[in-house]
Amino acid sequence: MALKPLIAGNWKMNGVGASLDEARAIAEGAAALTSVDLLLCPPATLIGRMAARCAGTPLAIGGQDCHTEIAGAFTGDVSAAMLADAGASHVIVGHSERRTLHGETSALVRQKAEAALAQGLVAIICIGETLAEREAGRTLAVVIDQLQASLPAGADGHTVVIAYEPVWAIGTGKTPTSADVAEVHAGLRAELVRLLGADKGAPVRLLYGGSVKPSNAAELMALPDVNGALVGGASLKSADFLAIAAAV
Ligand code: PEP
Repeated sequence: MALKPLIAGNWKMNGVGASLDEARAIAEGAAALTSVDLLLCPPATLIGRMAARCAGTPLAIGGQDCHTEIAGAFTGDVSAAMLADAGASHVIVGHSERRTLHGETSALVRQKAEAALAQGLVAIICIGETLAEREAGRTLAVVIDQLQASLPAGADGHTVVIAYEPVWAIGTGKTPTSADVAEVHAGLRAELVRLLGADKGAPVRLLYGGSVKPSNAAELMALPDVNGALVGGASLKSADFLAIAAAV
């Protein structure tokens, strides 16, 4: 099934008010890139201002994480309701930095995704193996286990996006071979169809993430069942991010 690709940028803990100029440049460039959807996920502090600055353009804005609850005594956390209120349409959940640095389990990621869906946000659910797991030949088993345990009730092509991000490829400049990416995406597609049925599983977009840059985007994005990219470092510069989107 041909799905409209999504190119999503994750700014992580980068960006201040001045960075909104980069977002605006991406938003303006997005107008010419009608065959892809573009999304930027800045730090929570910038979501409202970025949404206002990019209003009326095709650039969507997302959060990088959300709490499982709508509101309450959770110092430092941000809820899906707050992200939606600030102008977000998407939220990343289960990024490997959250899983590793904050001990987030797939069960928690599933709860976060359900909180996102309850607020009308699209949940971008990240999964991926460590280098040790890859070297042990466990990549497919690991990502399928993460997928099964992280997928929320109500998952379909409108409500969720899956981002396959090998942990060892994030921010390292290393990428799996095209054959390896294609093998994992084929396995994930088959599992989505098995879990959700073809009507709901086939339209779920499967992104690849991990050191995507302008020079490797075209090859990665041309692979079967790769329906876009989750981009970290290269999303901070509008020229690089737009070049990745243009390579699709
Ligand atoms: C990410 O953080 O999701 C990511 C893919 O980072 P990078 O593109 O920098 O590897």
